[in-house]
Amino acid sequence: MKAYFDPRQLAHAPARELHNGSFTAYAEVPARGEAIRAVLPDCHCPDDFGEAAIVAVHDAGYLAFLKDAARLWAEAGRAGDPIPYAFPIVRRRSPHLTRIDALMGRYSFDATTPITREAWASSYWSAQSVLSATHTVLGGDRAAFALCRPPGHHAGADYCGGYCHLNTAAIAAQAARDAGCARVAILDIDYHHGNGTQDIFWTRGDVFYASVHADPATDYPFYWGHADEIGEGAGRGATLNLPLPHGTRVDAFRAAQASALEAITRFAPDLLVLSFGADTWEGDPISHFALTTADYAVLARDIAACGWPTVIAMEGGYAVDALGANVASLLSGF
Ligand SMILES: [Zn+2]
Repeated sequence: MKAYFDPRQLAHAPARELHNGSFTAYAEVPARGEAIRAVLPDCHCPDDFGEAAIVAVHDAGYLAFLKDAARLWAEAGRAGDPIPYAFPIVRRRSPHLTRIDALMGRYSFDATTPITREAWASSYWSAQSVLSATHTVLGGDRAAFALCRPPGHHAGADYCGGYCHLNTAAIAAQAARDAGCARVAILDIDYHHGNGTQDIFWTRGDVFYASVHADPATDYPFYWGHADEIGEGAGRGATLNLPLPHGTRVDAFRAAQASALEAITRFAPDLLVLSFGADTWEGDPISHFALTTADYAVLARDIAACGWPTVIAMEGGYAVDALGANVASLLSGF
């Protein structure tokens, strides 16, 4: 299977994040990308498709902010990485504010995602990797893997969060739509709910979003991913959330994934985007499921058996020493 990755995706390296009440070392480290790259025998640098496919998903003001935030932060005399502390969540208005702290809150939903000087370039090349994988599959390959680091599924059209700046799965899905696929499905099996992906396609009936994830009653991102969220308007019924409890092992995960695959089969997509996170692994430092390395091959075989052309976009997974083996296991199942 062809894979895509650009070394510029490693440049974004925040020093720390605000987590559970204190500053801790940033979990989404560049070493994640290196660990996965090491197990990809057929890995290529992506082509540069430019910004059109990114603009098709993301708000123009948000993209300008991503490119500018680190400069504005430095000009405000700040040390360290840009992190927001105020969010316009009540009767959100859009006055024209220019102070960096106002922009940080306007375009973020949490404080876990610093926007370093390198954030734009790393995320841009992560997006190019998923676009290259998408075009490879559209060109006839059965499946392709995008080593998306930074990951993407928490980023909405106009907000970052959860280590994500550009929503690579959504960019892939929209690019497939724009290339002529009438119906695209996204299956998200990261430990966390992909709130950004859900938001982007919430009112659309042409892109189905199904997610198996930790119950947001107990886990980040808390405010999305509950079972009663099914989409609205034309998108009503095109969102499926399957939350699971702490301690979930492969049998329960596989059963939930089978429900998602049945729903996707009824939707009858022309192409599948798989948001894959290895943070469901039993030893992940920030998560609470109990999948083993061998389980990923089993899950992948179930997905591959459905027969859809598949773009795999890497999402989370924070046990760096196990990441390569977990990704290799998943890819072996395809
Ligand atoms: Zn995750």
